Amino acid sequence: MKLFTIFKDIVRNTFSKPYTRNYPTEIRPSFEGERGKLIIEGEKCIYCGICARKCPSNALVVTKKPDQSWQFERYRCILCAACVEACPKKCLHMVSRLDERG
Ligand code: SF4
Ligand code: SF4
Repeated sequence: MKLFTIFKDIVRNTFSKPYTRNYPTEIRPSFEGERGKLIIEGEKCIYCGICARKCPSNALVVTKKPDQSWQFERYRCILCAACVEACPKKCLHMVSRLDERG
């Protein structure tokens, strides 16, 4: 019985397409709504700090005075997009990592 099951698997796997992709020649396309990483359009930022206050993992630190700065600790980020939704200037975006490969 077991031998028959193994034989069935061998035949099926011999004639079926592989389940894996031939990476890197065959790259998986990104999908809608994917949250790959956070980016900022720095020139639009007004350093209001709303994003930092909304961030649940304290990944953002924004200062306005004495110097304007926007800092992001990537390894703290949980990709929740709360900062993206809260930003009044719409300068934060979640972008795909998959599209960067190639
Ligand atoms: S909420 Fe937007 S405008 Fe305000 S500091 Fe954050 S990124 Fe800049
Ligand atoms: S995506 Fe979420 S965890 Fe990452 S910086 Fe924005 S608010 Fe913080």
